[in-house]
Amino acid sequence: MHVAFESGNAFNINKEVIAAAKNLKPKALLNIDANAKTIKGQKEGFMTGVMYLSPEKSSGYQVCPKASAGCIAACLNTAGRGAFDSTQRARKARTLRFFDNRDQFLKDVYREIEALGKKAKRKGLVPVVRLNGTSDLPWEKFKLDKTLGKTIFEHFPDVQFYDYTKIHQRAVKFGKGEMPDNYHITFSRAEDNDADAIKVLEANGNVAVVFRQGLPAKWKGFDVINGDSNDLRFRDEPGTVVGLVAKGKGKKETSGFVVDVPENEIVWKPERGKKLVKKGE
Ligand code: SF4
Repeated sequence: MHVAFESGNAFNINKEVIAAAKNLKPKALLNIDANAKTIKGQKEGFMTGVMYLSPEKSSGYQVCPKASAGCIAACLNTAGRGAFDSTQRARKARTLRFFDNRDQFLKDVYREIEALGKKAKRKGLVPVVRLNGTSDLPWEKFKLDKTLGKTIFEHFPDVQFYDYTKIHQRAVKFGKGEMPDNYHITFSRAEDNDADAIKVLEANGNVAVVFRQGLPAKWKGFDVINGDSNDLRFRDEPGTVVGLVAKGKGKKETSGFVVDVPENEIVWKPERGKKLVKKGE
């Protein structure tokens, strides 16, 4: 289904779910270093704020227009704290807040990024922000303030932003250098978008691919790098495949979202189901 992002009404696809969630109390918008991968980033000098919304149309509004059956099944949304009802309620409340009053929402995002920047500075860390933790919204299109007409990226030129997307046009634009300088985008490969993934790689963008047993050296002829060591995607070599190993429910995913790798092609393998270790090390 194609969704027009310019119109608030175009997202409104399930009025009953939205009505039921209206009285949920919104929490802070950014989670700071609250997952294992972003905590790893702190060791490398970065403090990461991630915003988690209710993915796909689980709030009643569609925030992942290109979601596939496979990615919905393996979505990060239910990982870690996402397993708790309270977390899901907070994500719904945030999503409704975005659709109910976008101007105020963007102002609140601004304030939280400003606070993150100050906190990171006090600790000698570099602030990094991922706005689409569990959504796929085109943040480059939303103007924070109508008079100046600036996006959140333009307001914080010294903050590094990054996201994953399934909208290949956004990832191709990034690969061609047509996105804001401080916004890095990685395309997420799924069971139904191999051709788009290749277009992104050919445009010098990055593509995240989930593999089942371990990581191969190449995918479709492009180099695979280990994307599991941290979430600092903006440091990835352009034009490479970011290899991730399936976790949790994803290990049993059979739609084609998770790519099987023959044993003899595996270069990186999870050690006791966790850390990836390079063969021969
Ligand atoms: S597009 Fe991303 S956030 Fe949305 S359902 Fe798929 S995996 Fe989850």
